[in-house]
Amino acid sequence: MRPVAQLILRTMALIVQKYGGTSVGDAERIRAVADHVARTREAGNDVVVVVSAMGKFTDDLIHLADDVSPNRPPRELDMLLTAGERISMALVSMALGARGVESASFTGSQAGIITDTDHTRAKILEMRPDRIREALDSGLVPVVAGFQGVSTERDITTLGRGGSDVTAVALAAALKADVCEIYTDVTGVFSADPRVVAKAKRLSKVSFDEMMEMAATGGRVLMLRSVEFARRHGVPLHVRSSFTWEPGTWIVEEDPTMEEAVVSAVTDDKSEAKVTVGGVPDKPGIAAKLFRELANRGINVDMIVQNTGANGLTDISFTVAKTDLEAAGECCNHVKDEIGAANVTTDDNIGRVSIVGAGMKSNPGVTALMFETLSEHGINIEMISTSSIRISCVLRAEKVSDAVRYLHTAFGLDAA
Ligand code: ASP
Ligand code: MG
Repeated sequence: MRPVAQLILRTMALIVQKYGGTSVGDAERIRAVADHVARTREAGNDVVVVVSAMGKFTDDLIHLADDVSPNRPPRELDMLLTAGERISMALVSMALGARGVESASFTGSQAGIITDTDHTRAKILEMRPDRIREALDSGLVPVVAGFQGVSTERDITTLGRGGSDVTAVALAAALKADVCEIYTDVTGVFSADPRVVAKAKRLSKVSFDEMMEMAATGGRVLMLRSVEFARRHGVPLHVRSSFTWEPGTWIVEEDPTMEEAVVSAVTDDKSEAKVTVGGVPDKPGIAAKLFRELANRGINVDMIVQNTGANGLTDISFTVAKTDLEAAGECCNHVKDEIGAANVTTDDNIGRVSIVGAGMKSNPGVTALMFETLSEHGINIEMISTSSIRISCVLRAEKVSDAVRYLHTAFGLDAA
């Protein structure tokens, strides 16, 4: 018989475990996942599993669709892509059975994930995870297909690339889970991309605000929307590796008693391009007209810089995702005459480096040190933007990796 103390200590937690594509990449990985789920249960926890499609399966399906037809109706594309996660969920459920854990798989629709009708990037409107609760109550491990839901029009939808994270966080919030664990092929969130900075170190704790800034400026570990969701619902996240199973990075509410790092991380992003509308009249209504046109076309603008006017004229530069560059250029050329602009130029050879840290708010001199570091190395800054806990600079693309390394050193982040 177990000692009483041990029984009392075994307080039951509800854990949502999300496994990304590499974590379920082949049969051996799937068995390793099943084993870890079994061990988590043996430790006295309830587990809900959320899976991504195996490896690069989603990409392969997209290429297949490209091959088959030049136009891909979003409804059919969603139907196609959700197949990837259905394969994973069934296989993981089988592997759990073989490991002696009773489980059942559920599609997003069966799990009660209700979305809007915006195919390929649907938003979750409501969670009705009754079947998941029932499965838990009857002692099963529910295995849910990530990245998918069912729309208010009863069509199958997907939540946008990387959307399995959103599924996991939404389920964790709806089920009031104690933690949402995100298993991936890296051991956590790092002070910089370890492929760029060899001396990058794993962060043990990051605040939601910092993580959001990192996700928005090139941090590739977590999808921005899932972090927003987790913050809004107060779901603690734990990003960790399914290859080493060691503890990773916790993403939690900022703790006011904690001493904050001035700068926690340096991120880089080469996914954006710059548009400059030159020689526009420096008067009210010009920027409004320009950005209204861009918004009407669904183009998301990130950084914006307007130069000081000279002779009544000014330049406006902004960045957009590279994938939106063509549309943004066209849009600007379309309104060029109407707003009296002299020219429109585009530049896809830029990159952005950002420093993020919750302690920046109360520490002067961070901006100066960033600019000094770049200038010491002869790196020209083309655009600047800031939030209360982030500073970003746009540079020539080929300078970005060096800039990340210099800043990582300058802010004392290099691992010993
Ligand atoms: N399988 C989907 C994708 O590759 C969703 C995900 O992995 O989160 O985007
Ligand atoms: Mg993913």
